[in-house]
Amino acid sequence: TGGLDVQAVRRDFPILAERVNGKPLVWFDNAATTQKPRVVIDRVSYFYEHENSNIHRAAHELAARATDAYEGARNSATRLLGARSSSEIIFVRGATEGINLIANTFGRKYIGAGDEIIVSNLEHHANIVPWQLLAKEVGAKLRVIPVDDSGQILLEEYAKLLNPRTRLVSVTQVSNALGTVTPVQEIIALAHAAGARVLIDGAQSVSHMRVNVQALDADFFVFSGHKVFGPTGIGVVYGKKDLLDTLPPWQGGGNMIADVTFEHTQFQPAPARFEAGTGNIADAVGLGAALDYVERIGLENIYRYEHDLLVYATRGLTSIPGLRLIGTAAHKASVLSFVLDGYRTEEVGAALNREGIAVRSGHHCAQPILRRFGVEATVRPSLAFYNTVGEVDLLVDTVRRLAHAKGGGRRG
Ligand code: PMP
Repeated sequence: TGGLDVQAVRRDFPILAERVNGKPLVWFDNAATTQKPRVVIDRVSYFYEHENSNIHRAAHELAARATDAYEGARNSATRLLGARSSSEIIFVRGATEGINLIANTFGRKYIGAGDEIIVSNLEHHANIVPWQLLAKEVGAKLRVIPVDDSGQILLEEYAKLLNPRTRLVSVTQVSNALGTVTPVQEIIALAHAAGARVLIDGAQSVSHMRVNVQALDADFFVFSGHKVFGPTGIGVVYGKKDLLDTLPPWQGGGNMIADVTFEHTQFQPAPARFEAGTGNIADAVGLGAALDYVERIGLENIYRYEHDLLVYATRGLTSIPGLRLIGTAAHKASVLSFVLDGYRTEEVGAALNREGIAVRSGHHCAQPILRRFGVEATVRPSLAFYNTVGEVDLLVDTVRRLAHAKGGGRRG
């Protein structure tokens, strides 16, 4: 499959040599978090061994090294997203904090009583709850784009929701619960034509496909480092510079100020204005190493490899009697979500765990979309570019054996 040597890639990830229940680990929980390549683990260690300091360039040698490393990571994120400038890249804890930052800055400034915020039925709770909190506080309304039976956004219905009171459209690029890849290009163009801004939740997209925020013309874009082979506790907000410069700060403190008196504080421009206090410096540096790593593998190679693996896994799973795949959109990435007749989802998860296979079973922090399909939980294997055809075969065979056990029971 394509220009990707999966066995070579696997050697980059020490944890893939781990054994679970006496079996080789099969990591199919990539939508929850991804594993870390050696280059990321080593980069974080190197930082603490050779560069550790707070970031204040002029003070001393280690401060200069730490500042260079931190700003180097910002440059890596700038390149990955295709942003115009590194001043459009804000470090936060993750996608959740990123969305809350935008709700508390853009939201409080530009969204008022009677205004409308549009999300889709596919959203993760992180892209629902902050908007509900804001809407309640300012008296705005939350509108929801419905999906069709494949789990794809209905663009005609979306177009009908847009109106002069729409201030923001906030949608995911890839659904963490179903794997649907949404038509963000069209969503953004329609929003802009209606005078609304757009936030794209890229938590599930940046590790699987090439993203370019300028080509998309996204106003805001967020992602989490830990889902793109980087450390936990670090993530990114992209915002168009001219828009960021109009926004008030969210948290106040050190780093984000230009001058403070007891009467008045002048703030730094973006991104420092939105990075109050000492940030997660070491993990930002680790994230930079992760982003450089995926660029070396090539997001086009990753996309092609994973696409073939997803098609193969879909064919295998859907051939199992009593298995219902939820989320059958034509354009999907990484995620397979299913329920199996006669089993609770956690029973399937436990059976897979006995074979060393890690999947998520539950509601995936996306209850509204699961309920749209009449279920409260699914089993969710999710693929990354270090997964193999052999691992997919083991998954499918294990689930097939469960299905046959119940089928046999019923017949007997
Ligand atoms: N959005 C989506 C689509 C996600 O999948 C996730 C993580 N499951 C989040 C937002 C939140 O990310 P985090 O928990 O890393 O802040």
